[in-house]
Amino acid sequence: MPAPGEQNIAVIGAGIVGISSALYLQRAGFAVTLIDRDEPGHGATFGNAAALAPHAFVPINSPSIPRRLLPLLFASGSPLSIDWGYAPRMLPWLLSFLSHCTPTEVTRIAQAMHALLSRNLDYALPLFRESGADRLMRGGGYLHLYESEAAYRASAGEVALYKRLADDVEEIDAAQIRRLEPNLAPVFVRALYFHSALHYLSTVDVCATLVKHFCAQGGRFLRDEVGTLEARADGRIRVAGTQESVYDQAVLAAGAQARRLFGGAVEKLPLETERGYHIMFGGQAGIISRTCSSATAGFAMTPMTAGLRCAGMVELAGLDKPPNPACHAYLDRTAKRFLPGITENPSSNWMGFRPSMPDALPVIGRSARTANIILAFGHQHVGMSSGCVTGAIVADIAAGRTPAIDITPFSPARF
Ligand SMILES: Cc1cc2nc3c(=O)[nH]c(=O)nc-3n(C[C@H](O)[C@H](O)[C@H](O)COP(=O)(O)OP(=O)(O)OC[C@H]3O[C@@H](n4cnc5c(N)ncnc54)[C@H](O)[C@@H]3O)c2cc1C
Repeated sequence: MPAPGEQNIAVIGAGIVGISSALYLQRAGFAVTLIDRDEPGHGATFGNAAALAPHAFVPINSPSIPRRLLPLLFASGSPLSIDWGYAPRMLPWLLSFLSHCTPTEVTRIAQAMHALLSRNLDYALPLFRESGADRLMRGGGYLHLYESEAAYRASAGEVALYKRLADDVEEIDAAQIRRLEPNLAPVFVRALYFHSALHYLSTVDVCATLVKHFCAQGGRFLRDEVGTLEARADGRIRVAGTQESVYDQAVLAAGAQARRLFGGAVEKLPLETERGYHIMFGGQAGIISRTCSSATAGFAMTPMTAGLRCAGMVELAGLDKPPNPACHAYLDRTAKRFLPGITENPSSNWMGFRPSMPDALPVIGRSARTANIILAFGHQHVGMSSGCVTGAIVADIAAGRTPAIDITPFSPARF
């Protein structure tokens, strides 16, 4: 294969994964074109809970899920919901998801994600500093809150994993929670306080800043919707939307929408979406100082430049259905229960698509069908905390170098 300096490469998708990949590929010497149908950072990267959380390695595939799944799906006011019309299409993914809910699997997944997440800051901070995006990040840690001793005991498995793998975790009581976050309702009895987490003050502005830096360094951002990825006889990749070009390699980093490009040059993989929601309270940016999440409510709140963001929910309903207002109403009710000082209506709301594999691990590696296409998607609940390290891995793969992290657990060939 020619040296990186003699190759051009297309990155499809300008979310946190694609932007980080483009920047690390550029650093490796490739001529990079970053393509998105939208402005940078307008997919799942736009609307998440904005936590950069190195500790977020425990998957949602909890061993208790098989027992709790039906009650969760049928309960009104639950953070999990399914569109029953879409359920038959989801069934193979759901069955595979359940098969990864054993204690052994959860430990394996947590260890693999810990390897990825614990290295992310090593690759994120240089990008943030050199582009100027570091001014849009804040420290202060992350509080994971429990409403009762029973809820804490019920989470014994995840707490044990946090204590075993996270080197920044402190267990704190109700009085310590109140000292850190005096505006929280006194409903929390315990919390895990992860000291090294950061949060984004604006996810979309971080992306715009990174892409501006990428373009200033000679990168090209192309606004187009890619409809075709095709392997040519000479091994090069034809990338076609309203415009088309041929590249030496291509990176598919299109988040949950990547699956619309499966079936030709890219093998079909079990990529689904867990739809998530947020609401903003524009005047409440100062009501808390760090990301606060509830262990049971499927809910996190983060103070951002534009106000307080309350994000969460998992809705299994595919890519095409419109947002469900009941999910925004749940977030509004829950925010006001945890922060009684909020009395106003949300100033804006959003729905987006987490890209999720059934084993809660992303796909990072060369396509089994077309070696010159690198796959980088499926970061589900933790892409803002693992996107930058993924970008560095993508650049290593493209340049034929061995990545700093064992990527076997993320292989596309595991399915
Ligand atoms: C409610 C919610 C809360 C979350 N909270 C957190 C959190 O606090 N911390 C955390 O680490 N993670 C969080 N996440 C997860 C995180 O947002 C995602 O894992 C991450 O944003 C995925 O990034 P991505 O780059 O893979 O995908 P995306 O951000 O979705 O980017 C994909 C891009 O590809 C583009 N695209 C798609 N198809 C095409 C095409 N054919 N042609 C051209 N462009 C295309 C899209 O326009 C989009 O810009 C949360 C997610 C949600 C929904």
